[in-house]
Parts: sequence; C-alpha cells; structure tokens
Amino acid sequence: MPGLEDLYREIILDHYRSPRNRGTLETPPAHMAKGHNPLCGDEIQVYLIVGDGYVEDVKISGQGCSISQSSASMMSAAVKGKTVHEARRMIDAFRSMMSVHERAVAGNRIDHEEPDDYSDVKLGDLDALRGVVKFPVRIKCATLSWNTLTQALEEATA
Ligand code: ZN
Repeated sequence: MPGLEDLYREIILDHYRSPRNRGTLETPPAHMAKGHNPLCGDEIQVYLIVGDGYVEDVKISGQGCSISQSSASMMSAAVKGKTVHEARRMIDAFRSMMSVHERAVAGNRIDHEEPDDYSDVKLGDLDALRGVVKFPVRIKCATLSWNTLTQALEEATA
C-alpha cells in the first residue's frame, strides 16, 4: 500500500506535468507580477483579473523546479473564482504552513506564539506540499508563487 509520501509525490508530479491555468492574460485588463527565486532559478509570472471582489481569472507562466511549478499550479486552481478575501486567507494559511516550521528549524522557540487558526481554510491538494517544510532550502520554491500572487493582488486591488 502506498504511503502518504507517495501520494503527495503523485499529486506534486501531476501538477508539474499538467499544470493548471497555464498561460498568460492580456495586460491590461489583467495585472501581472513576476517572482524569482535565485536560490533555485525558479521564475513565475502571475496574471490576475480581479472584478467585483472576486478572482475572476488567473494564469501562470514561468519555469523552474517541480516544487515551484506545482505549487503555482495548485495555487491557481485554489484561488480562481474565490473572493479576494478568501484568496488572502489562503495565502496566509499556506505561508503559515510553511513558515511555522521554518522558524522551528531555525531553532527559535515558537511555543509562546499562538499561531493563527486557519482550520477553516481548505488547502486541498496544497496539503501535498506540507512535506516541503522538512527541506528548508525548498520552502522558497513552494512560497514563490504565493508571494508573486500577493504582489499581483495588491496591484489589482490598489
Ligand atoms: Zn525551486
């Protein structure tokens, strides 16, 4: 019987091989933000159309490792059609999933800090990236598209 790690690997590879919402959107009306992770050479462009408080459309282009590209694919599927508020909550929840461990790995005490509760946020396939926190050098690969989405959201809602 395959373990959870194998299932996670399957999900990540599936998004890497068949990325969702791949492509570009015309700017304007879309807003575009670029992200770059020099540690790994990952590049991401996020195209975003926000209207009436909703993420109406999102497209991803770029290149890089399987973690960066699959995270971007999962992110695009997760936020498309959501409200801007829901998308921001999802960004926070994903960052929290990645950074709590980053702090722990750095050897800092985190027990005085009550983490925000994101149990209401459904991350779906993104849960597959939970294992990345065991490899601190890859965390920037996983969070690249999310930081880029944050930029694009700020521009689109400015
Ligand atoms: Zn990478």
